[in-house]
Amino acid sequence: MPARVPASRSARLDVFPAFHKVAGRRVVVVGGGGEAAAKVRLLAETNAVVEVVAPHIDAELAAAVEAAGAVHVAEAFRPAHLTGAALVFSAREDEALDRAVVDAARIFGVPANAVDKPDLCDFYTGALVNRAPIAVAVTSTGAGPVLARHIRARIEALLPRSTGDLARLAESFRDAAARLLPDAAARRRFWARFFSGPVADTLHAGRADLARAEAQRLLNSAVDGTGFVWLVGAGPGAEDLLTLRAQRLLQEADVIVHDALVPQAVVAMGRRDARRIAVGKRKGAHSVAQADIDALLVALARDGHRVVRLKAGDPLVFGRAGEEMAALRKAGICFEVVPGVTAALAAAASAGIPLTLRGVASTLVFATGHDADGATLPGWAGLALAGATVAVYMGRTVAGAVSRRLVEAGLAASTPVAVVENAARPDERLFVGTLDALAALADRPDVTGPVLIVVGDAVAHASLQGAAPIAVRPIRQSVAA
Ligand code: SAH
Repeated sequence: MPARVPASRSARLDVFPAFHKVAGRRVVVVGGGGEAAAKVRLLAETNAVVEVVAPHIDAELAAAVEAAGAVHVAEAFRPAHLTGAALVFSAREDEALDRAVVDAARIFGVPANAVDKPDLCDFYTGALVNRAPIAVAVTSTGAGPVLARHIRARIEALLPRSTGDLARLAESFRDAAARLLPDAAARRRFWARFFSGPVADTLHAGRADLARAEAQRLLNSAVDGTGFVWLVGAGPGAEDLLTLRAQRLLQEADVIVHDALVPQAVVAMGRRDARRIAVGKRKGAHSVAQADIDALLVALARDGHRVVRLKAGDPLVFGRAGEEMAALRKAGICFEVVPGVTAALAAAASAGIPLTLRGVASTLVFATGHDADGATLPGWAGLALAGATVAVYMGRTVAGAVSRRLVEAGLAASTPVAVVENAARPDERLFVGTLDALAALADRPDVTGPVLIVVGDAVAHASLQGAAPIAVRPIRQSVAA
């Protein structure tokens, strides 16, 4: 593909960004004051042999020279000082003196920079972000040095300190990857995972040994042609509640195995040519047995596919990821879990429910409504009694049992309850009521989407003005929250 060339002259640069090799070479700084000190400090980020030429140097520069391990040549500048230099900086703080250095540099063929005299310069220095061997330099070509420094600060924040270590680790795997992965596409995939998955994560967490082991594991799996499975949380349904990582992996996957709860719009975010396999899991609808899903993931990975197993919300919350991870582990297939926004958090955000609230609720329980259906009191009922906020998943059809069980356990019938149907989706609806009204939810034929029930005193502090009552006609005497 031909490179895109900016159309207008103002969209083109007057400088060409390049990185000059200075390791082991002399770089000369001419001048004895603060400007020279600034350049010495900048050069101290490199492995250049720094020489300061000035008859006298002030205390600040002397300290910079000392800190940088630079050399002070206590002589008046002569052109011969530039013999064999890689670069020269003139910081004599005088136009005529700087020009003399630049003129000499031209004769010796040494690129020159005159501090604060752009007209004299052969090159500019940028605002530097040093993650050696990674370097980012920002220049505004003189138009806005403060802006350039702002941008530098943002890049500083963006690049973990260990970015350089990651680059060095990558370098130590480069030959092996080139030898063992002759196919360029396979190699690209290996590096993409190297820089964004557990290798990078563990390294940035300061676990260098683990990172090396992860990298080796990644290379092994790339070499023997087995695929990879990502268990990815798709969030509650809104496309923009997907993580950036999930979005990237959807673009990388060649097979997407998804639940029925994941909206079509999210599934559609995968690569156009990716195979998509729906594996049911919608209450009452036809669904594929969990053991078959486990076997499918293993088989796809063994065929060398890169599989995204896309699950609603977070994969580790009522997502049966435990079984899938066990099956993959047993089959020796590499996998990774990518978290997602779980339904309880999306529902709470929609309804403005503070799930924890000082003095009201200090525990948060993720519970399944199915527990309430059994003969014994579910374990979480006690936590609800002790003041926890309970987020009930899969509770719609068993809403009656949930309500009855909690009241039996001793929770006040007037405990506030919020219900969010289709949280974070365009067809989202909010309902509000009390624990004794919750039973009515199961009888509402109009509520057909996935619902998340939140029970607890914290619900009374939500912003539920627009919410409809849970019970269409209040049963018994409903207590206003
Ligand atoms: N792993 C998912 C939960 C799967 S269990 C997660 O972390 O969110 C399925 C249950 O999740 C549904 O019965 C419902 O209770 C809840 N759920 C999932 N998506 C939802 C949504 N958009 N709105 C409300 N509840 C949702």
